[in-house]
Amino acid sequence: MNILILGSGGREHSLAWAVLQNPKCDRLIVAPGNAGISQIAECAAIDIMAPGAVVSFAEEESIDLVIVGPEAPLAAGVADRLREAGILTFGPSAAAAQLEASKSFTKEICDAANAPTAAYGHFTDAAAAHAHVDATGAPIVIKADGLAAGKGVIIAETVDEAHAAIDDMFGGTFGSAGAEVVIEEFMQGEEASLFVLCDGTDILSIGTAQDHKRVGEGDTGPNTGGMGAYSPAPVLSPEIEARAMDEIIRPTMAEMAKRGMPFQGVLYAGLMIENGVPRLVEYNVRFGDPECQVLMMRLGAQVMDLLHATADGRLAECQVQWADDHALTVVLAADGYPGDYKKGSVIRGLNTCPEDSFNMVFHAGTTRKDGHITATGGRVLNVTARGTTLREAADRAYAMVDTIDWPQGFCRRDIGWRAL
Ligand code: AMP
Repeated sequence: MNILILGSGGREHSLAWAVLQNPKCDRLIVAPGNAGISQIAECAAIDIMAPGAVVSFAEEESIDLVIVGPEAPLAAGVADRLREAGILTFGPSAAAAQLEASKSFTKEICDAANAPTAAYGHFTDAAAAHAHVDATGAPIVIKADGLAAGKGVIIAETVDEAHAAIDDMFGGTFGSAGAEVVIEEFMQGEEASLFVLCDGTDILSIGTAQDHKRVGEGDTGPNTGGMGAYSPAPVLSPEIEARAMDEIIRPTMAEMAKRGMPFQGVLYAGLMIENGVPRLVEYNVRFGDPECQVLMMRLGAQVMDLLHATADGRLAECQVQWADDHALTVVLAADGYPGDYKKGSVIRGLNTCPEDSFNMVFHAGTTRKDGHITATGGRVLNVTARGTTLREAADRAYAMVDTIDWPQGFCRRDIGWRAL
């Protein structure tokens, strides 16, 4: 098969790495890709936000399966246009992608499906939002309704912070994403992620993970896109996972199908677990980054068959083959991230890192310049390892981190601490 993966981050590098292990993959192209991906696959500089350009490219290259990595092209209807052109595509329609693109849509689906989640109010008017905060008090969670690159959520510890967040959102800080605001009950508990494939009818769990959102050790400091992750997540025991499937995932997928927008792709459920009870924090309609990297490490070559069957409506035939293993990824970021950081510093020592089915350095924000790998983003490398225990995976990952020579970068040294 000829496969096209859309995206350019560590997530897509890990997807490419897994797909390439499957003998059914004859040719792999990643658009636009990055320096790490270009070492293992062809990269193509096409605009993945332009559905017409993606369809023409897939037709010219005789692509048999397109795998869409990030959420933005899904919300822009790229998967719809590919399917209309008769090209097999892994990833939801723009209508189904509203599960990530609109928080009020998801809340309404959860209400209809009776899926447990935080109590909420939905506002298009600042005065009503302020009155809601005055009536409920703090802590409280203020969310821009639309896609805001993970930045549109404010956990307000005080009523004053909540009022300021409402003013910011209606004041346009998040552009049109903040024209509508969802205000939620603050949920206590431990957070973990559950990943399921859905082909519109059948559902298959492909694993659990936990990530570290804060920049500082001990989970302190500002939020980031994620400083590391590990899989499985011990807090999501088989019993709690089964409960989340029965009470949250299956009813949501059934409600989507009932509304004529069946979900096809990977559904990533962020769950809050308190006293053994899971509640939904949010849905994403694509793999998490860096959670994808640990899932790919654990799943390996079978990923291509699973994603193919999802796109093809054959998930009922599939099972996941699990090795009883653990994977962990450490994010190396540029100094200053998530604030201002410099681009262009040279990263050395990568060639001394082992690259096999237990150890991989996935590239997130890199480019190749004058024969060197240089940093082009905030989160730059995902140093990922697998082991029979989480401790073994962590030791392997940090052993690789220590061979990488990048004075302008940093990482957290405590990834996995909660589970370890
Ligand atoms: P979201 O973009 O909705 O996932 O929110 C980002 C992060 O904010 C989540 O991963 C949680 O850590 C936190 N969060 C969001 N909503 C809530 C809530 N209702 N209660 C507690 N924490 C929340």
